[in-house]
Amino acid sequence: AKTLRLILGDQLNASHAWFKTKDEHVLYAIAEMKQETDYVRHHAQKVCAFFMAMEGFAEALKKAGHNVCHLTLDDTIDDPDLPSLITRLINENGITGFEYQRPDEYRLKEQLSQLASTLESSGLQTHCVDTEHFLLPFEEIDKQFKKDTHLRMETFYRKMRKRFDVLMLDGKPVGGKWNYDADNRKKLKKSDLALIPTPLTFTRKTSDVASRLKRHGVTTLGELDDVMPWPVTRSEALAVLDFFIEEQLPNFGQFQDAMTCQSPHSWSLFHSRLSFALNAKILHPMQVINAVLAAYEAESASIQAVEGFIRQVLGWREYVRGVYWANMPDYADKNHYGVDRDLPAFFWDGKTGMRCMSEAISQSLTTAYAHHIQRLMVTGNFSLLAGLDPRQVDEWYLGIYIDAIEWVEMPNTRGMSLFADGGIIATKPYCASGSYINRMSDYCSNCQYKVKEKSSDDACPLNSLYWDFMVSHREELTKNPRIGMIFGNWDKLADDEQTAIRQRASWIKENLNEI
Ligand code: FAD
Repeated sequence: AKTLRLILGDQLNASHAWFKTKDEHVLYAIAEMKQETDYVRHHAQKVCAFFMAMEGFAEALKKAGHNVCHLTLDDTIDDPDLPSLITRLINENGITGFEYQRPDEYRLKEQLSQLASTLESSGLQTHCVDTEHFLLPFEEIDKQFKKDTHLRMETFYRKMRKRFDVLMLDGKPVGGKWNYDADNRKKLKKSDLALIPTPLTFTRKTSDVASRLKRHGVTTLGELDDVMPWPVTRSEALAVLDFFIEEQLPNFGQFQDAMTCQSPHSWSLFHSRLSFALNAKILHPMQVINAVLAAYEAESASIQAVEGFIRQVLGWREYVRGVYWANMPDYADKNHYGVDRDLPAFFWDGKTGMRCMSEAISQSLTTAYAHHIQRLMVTGNFSLLAGLDPRQVDEWYLGIYIDAIEWVEMPNTRGMSLFADGGIIATKPYCASGSYINRMSDYCSNCQYKVKEKSSDDACPLNSLYWDFMVSHREELTKNPRIGMIFGNWDKLADDEQTAIRQRASWIKENLNEI
């Protein structure tokens, strides 16, 4: 009897129970597939990073003595999809059993469970196992998250802190507070720029994968160098983790929400850039959390920094996964505001006079990366205020970022950024005028638009869009006590000023390619 075990590109967990023993009757399959390169247009670095990581993982497994079949696009180009490839491998290798790790994406989970039932009905044994990656067991998601229902992230996070005994002392949060967000909102001053470290990047050649993509007509977006800057092996990922702990974590907290265009390393700042390694499961979340806790024990990082980071990994990351599974597949159709405007062309080339948008988009095209506040409060905020089609916005985020996998990308985009889920994630839309961007960045002083103006031809587009959005949804928004009072500022404006602001917003929305 021979078993085929499938390893998907985001299942590169070397510590998985599968690999604890060698078994000559088991064949592991890791395959580059056109199905996976083409479901949206991806950043070239993203496709390369996944393919290079898969190749490295296959090599490591072989070295450890496992039977591995690593297939490149050259080998799978005639297999239209994963089920046909697997069926072919089963036939070619005299396979009697098929096993796979539960996919984290709805599309793949459906595809593989259908395949499994087909195989079973033709007499094969099939088995689906856990990926052994996430902290909240998959089976518990339904107990904690209810479809179409808001669960406070803070409530979830505190439970996770207690459950995993992270930053807890005698049943209380270490430092006396659960949340240090209020300390973590500093803008970077000129004198702070020297603190930003040169990020650790790598130099593996991308040429083999790049030429395969070309050979098979895979269309990508963004820039790709001769070398892969992202960590694609376990040792590289661990080096990025060490680098983060030593060089970035001490400042991570206070500058967590800051943005600048004045440093050669503006794109990375004090962010860990561990999301690809985590989402490909090269690193385990608890391994990352433990490294950060050790830095706290060693007094090399403050509670603000450490809690701020752990909240993201133990809190937000696990939380959005829960929301995803509790709400799929319907979540993918959510469009609370019923908007459908096309993405302007500058989402694909960064060419706009808005400095915040051009910085965030250009950097994303160059590096396949933007940090959280750029994603949420720059491109996300603009997409919300301009009424861009949530499906197109989702596809853009899913394509462009190195770490974008639907389970984490979609709740962040549809829910947190666009409020398209009507409040399953956020209790109010995360929307802001230019003054927020000005408070958190130095973009505005380097922008052609004037952040203090609302209705003139060179007024910051975010200002009129913001008021137009707020006023259009006034009835709904006033119900929220956290927002209602903002309308006092609007009501104080003279009628003709209000009209001019709304006219400017309409002009912008109709002429997005002109701004
Ligand atoms: P750091 O700032 O160093 O944070 C550490 C880790 O915390 C990250 O690696 C990540 O694993 C986790 N984390 C932080 N914030 C979140 C969050 N909101 N949700 C889930 N995990 C979080 N993250 C993705 O991994 N994939 C995506 O496709 C993705 N799409 C996003 C789309 C939008 C519109 C927004 C607003 C956020 C998105 N995020 C996504 C969340 C977050 O922006 C990224 O995880 C983060 O920027 C990755 O960079 P980093 O590793 O340097 O993070």
